[in-house]
Amino acid sequence: MDEAAQRALQACERRYRDLAHELAEIGFIASGSVALRSNRCGKAYCACHGDPPRLHGPYWLFTAKVNGKTVNKRLNEGEARLYNEWIANDRKVRVLLGQMREVASKAQELLLANEAAGPGSDAKSTASSPEND
Ligand SMILES: [Zn+2]
Repeated sequence: MDEAAQRALQACERRYRDLAHELAEIGFIASGSVALRSNRCGKAYCACHGDPPRLHGPYWLFTAKVNGKTVNKRLNEGEARLYNEWIANDRKVRVLLGQMREVASKAQELLLANEAAGPGSDAKSTASSPEND
């Protein structure tokens, strides 16, 4: 691997470690969404079925897919705040993971090119002499 490639690889490794460090700092995550909802109940003579309808709520509703099934959970204000934080963390994790994949693929290109350069260019053999250029 030439010097430029080595420097590029080291830059990838540093960036990758930085991203991994950022990832480690992120708090709890949750997948799903929180939304303000209003609805009708089952009582036929309730105001929510009137004209104009006066719907129940609004209240916070957490929606998530669990084992392929949509699960809803009604939340109070504090719970909604927590879920929003966890959902935001989840988004950050996915962004960071995408960036890590990008950096990794750059590093992998360099490593694979070196590997393809020929027999004996084994990654473990560090016996290459810099004077041999
Ligand atoms: Zn009602």
